[in-house]
Amino acid sequence: MPEPVVVPVASAAGRVNLLDLDRRDLEAFFVAFGEKPFRATQVMKWIYHERVTDFAAMTNLSKALRERLAECAEIHPPEVILDHASRDSSHKWLIRLDSGNSIEMVFIPEPDRGTLCVSSQIGCPLDCSFCATARQGFNRNLTVAEIIGQVWQASRLLGERRNGDRIITNIVLMGMGEPLLNFEAVVKAMDLMQDDLGFGISRRRVTLSTAGVVPALYRLREAAEVSLAVSLHAPDDALRNELVPLNRKYPIAELLAACRHYIADKPYRRITWEYVLLDGVNDTEAHARALAALIKDIPSKVNLIPFNPFPNTRYRRSGPEAIARFQAILMAHGLTTVTRKTRGDDIAAACGQLAGQVQARGRRQARIAQGAG
Ligand code: SAH
Repeated sequence: MPEPVVVPVASAAGRVNLLDLDRRDLEAFFVAFGEKPFRATQVMKWIYHERVTDFAAMTNLSKALRERLAECAEIHPPEVILDHASRDSSHKWLIRLDSGNSIEMVFIPEPDRGTLCVSSQIGCPLDCSFCATARQGFNRNLTVAEIIGQVWQASRLLGERRNGDRIITNIVLMGMGEPLLNFEAVVKAMDLMQDDLGFGISRRRVTLSTAGVVPALYRLREAAEVSLAVSLHAPDDALRNELVPLNRKYPIAELLAACRHYIADKPYRRITWEYVLLDGVNDTEAHARALAALIKDIPSKVNLIPFNPFPNTRYRRSGPEAIARFQAILMAHGLTTVTRKTRGDDIAAACGQLAGQVQARGRRQARIAQGAG
């Protein structure tokens, strides 16, 4: 039997997990297998449209091919071990990966859309001072199968049907981890989210959220076509260094230049700025004015996120007046600004509360991963 050329991740049994392969990889896989590339189309439809994981059920493939596939390949999504449904009908699922590690995934239904928030790493190496995930440390990057497998599982658990209405209309890479530090896998997984043979989510409805890994932002423009959210949180370097330590490596001016470049010549694009409001830290009128001045020449939308507390944090959520005043100042400067509703509060599924279980590998690995961007 010919060896497949693309073997990014083989399981313990030595099988290729087909969820690790985007359309091009899967075509190459079948060619190396002595088959025509269109087998990729057939198999992707089974995997993503019919949610079939057993080759035996793929009845438009010959029996011999099905048997050969079963010998050297598998379709293996990560396992969902807990489903918390919130009073406001959001969901948080706990997904077990390898021993001792788990991640969380959140679904937020709204009248006009359904947003799935997926993770890109086990833990996170960035250590933002206001984020619960940071407390968990960092273990490793997720594989393509583990990222797209989250969507696969959510779609199944929400009961999406091939010809029914879409339940998941938007996907945001805003769960655990910094997606731009897991570049290759994240780009392939986003490709599968958007591919008609995958989940067919429209381009601008897939959003990558980053703390600002500047070199990777330049690469992203070439590698994918997705909306961009940037976790800014402060209008000046001194404060941002404190809240988002990555800023010491890529200060605000460099980040803004990369953002301008990302949307240049793409008139339909704008940057969504995320700004967590921390009582007495970054929520004064002066901060709001400085923020407005900073981004005034970039097509923008601002998402204000009331801080979501977690145990042993020194921060507090800004009061409702401070939030309203902050928003009013931005809007007076002509900036589209929304204050994000805190959803899933009762199940700790709100922004920055995703924790899962991470076997941290210590600070050194964290620094190495940070440098890898
Ligand atoms: N690393 C990426 C993806 C994580 S997204 C990024 O930084 O963008 C998670 C979003 O929730 C980010 O905007 C993050 O800054 C925000 N966040 C983190 N902790 C939070 C908290 N405790 N309360 C509210 N928002 C938080």
